[in-house]
Amino acid sequence: MNVSRIFKHDPDPIKLKELFSSDERCLEFLAEAKWKDGYVCRKCGNTNYCEGKTPYSRRCTKCKTEESATAGTIFHNCKFPIHKAFYIAWNVCKAREDVSTYEFARRLSLRQMTCWNFKTKIRQALNEMDSLTYNERESIQKILE
Ligand SMILES: [Zn+2]
Repeated sequence: MNVSRIFKHDPDPIKLKELFSSDERCLEFLAEAKWKDGYVCRKCGNTNYCEGKTPYSRRCTKCKTEESATAGTIFHNCKFPIHKAFYIAWNVCKAREDVSTYEFARRLSLRQMTCWNFKTKIRQALNEMDSLTYNERESIQKILE
């Protein structure tokens, strides 16, 4: 799921504040965005699921494949708390001011290099989408959805 889709709708300020301080709220938010149009198992196409082992993950009732809320998003395998990653991603995608990686590091108590790496990852994901034609983007989004 493309990063710009995740933030397609602006959460209200109270919700944003929660997202920037709680990993669990972030996972909930991602799961909502990801399965907005219903759950489909990536492996077998089954639409029935039960709860997975990690918060807000889903497990296919047929083939037992589990999909986490972060799988297929820029937050997958993130090495630092996801609410901090969320803060960076939201600022890069949505905020008007260009926050430096030094400033992110200061605000989030992370290493500057960590912030730089993640910011670069987001920028690349956004650029890749921008360089595609409308039809290409549409078909990729369909696959990612
Ligand atoms: Zn399945």
